[in-house]
Amino acid sequence: MMNIGILGAGQLGRMLALAGYPLGHRFRFLDPASDSPAGLLADHLALDYSDTSALEQFANGLDVVTYEFENVPVEAARYLEKFVPVYPPPMALEKAQDRFVEKSFFQELGIPAPKFESGLSNRIADGIGFPAVLKTRRMGYDGKGQVVAHSQAELESGLLKPIADKADSFILEEFVAFDRELSIIAVRGKSGGTKFYPLIENRHRDGILRLSLVIGNITAELQKQAEEYAQRILSALDYVGVLTIEFFEKDGQLLANEMAPRVHNSGHWTIEGAITSQFENQVRAVCDAPLGSTSPLGVCAMVNLVGTLPDETSILKIEGAHLHLYDKAPRPKRKLGHITLVEKDVTTLNKKLDEIRKVYAEF
Ligand code: AMP
Repeated sequence: MMNIGILGAGQLGRMLALAGYPLGHRFRFLDPASDSPAGLLADHLALDYSDTSALEQFANGLDVVTYEFENVPVEAARYLEKFVPVYPPPMALEKAQDRFVEKSFFQELGIPAPKFESGLSNRIADGIGFPAVLKTRRMGYDGKGQVVAHSQAELESGLLKPIADKADSFILEEFVAFDRELSIIAVRGKSGGTKFYPLIENRHRDGILRLSLVIGNITAELQKQAEEYAQRILSALDYVGVLTIEFFEKDGQLLANEMAPRVHNSGHWTIEGAITSQFENQVRAVCDAPLGSTSPLGVCAMVNLVGTLPDETSILKIEGAHLHLYDKAPRPKRKLGHITLVEKDVTTLNKKLDEIRKVYAEF
């Protein structure tokens, strides 16, 4: 039994605790928001990450600390390290919090990424051209803090203003007309053992993940490429825990878009769809326990419930549909829950997805 502290008490924290209780662990959360999805499950300190006495109170009696979102202030993670081991290493937060630092890190490790420039800008560097994606360096997620510019005129017409008001530094990226979006979820234990889940195909709308599929449509070569790139990051950071990398696939090649030093929305299918879920493997990794098998149990899908919720009874009537709700009030673009399916073949999986669509057409 370990006492595990989690920074952030959102749905990912909630699912980490749900995976850790059967192993006998105890959980404690730190999150300034008082009505968080994980709040009902465990002790929850609703105090600020910058409050050092709150951090000390949180750390008291814990065996290990981990986190469920990448915008945990690095200083808080480093401060906690004085009292208790913190995994993944806070250096992973530093790399993931700033898109320019992150893409430069990919470059250093020889991981292909879209062309990019640092910039504060109403001018696109010649090498990037149009269309280009402008993103805030920090705090962007689910498509927030980014805009696609098609011409210099568009840029000069104040297109940037909505995001420029919220940030002062940007990254300019080549727009990639990708074939697919894929992600890999890797997990590395304290003694260095590593496992990978199969590449996941992800479909987004308005920058928000709507559907993830694990349906055997990935070549062994592509899987190998993704695992090699993930391995470089894991080794470079002497990583412990789950790491996710999101890629664009273009002409059979992978370009890294971003990394998340945590469990990931595109891995929710693993709860019912893999021998060991990403959440359990994160718990195992930070507790120095053997990692569990990442093999899928069938063909899998995950449908995100974003902004509105479907009628619960209608979803539960669909055989094999597993409903997960996060105890969050509906709000536009907010992730409120998800549904997972595990089936023997793609035809059956597609039939079930059609049944879900009749009740909930948002994906
Ligand atoms: P991000 O916040 O960087 O994950 O971006 C959210 C979504 O916007 C991605 O999942 C893509 O669908 C899209 N996107 C981001 N960057 C690019 C790019 N450089 N080219 C094309 N689409 C992009």
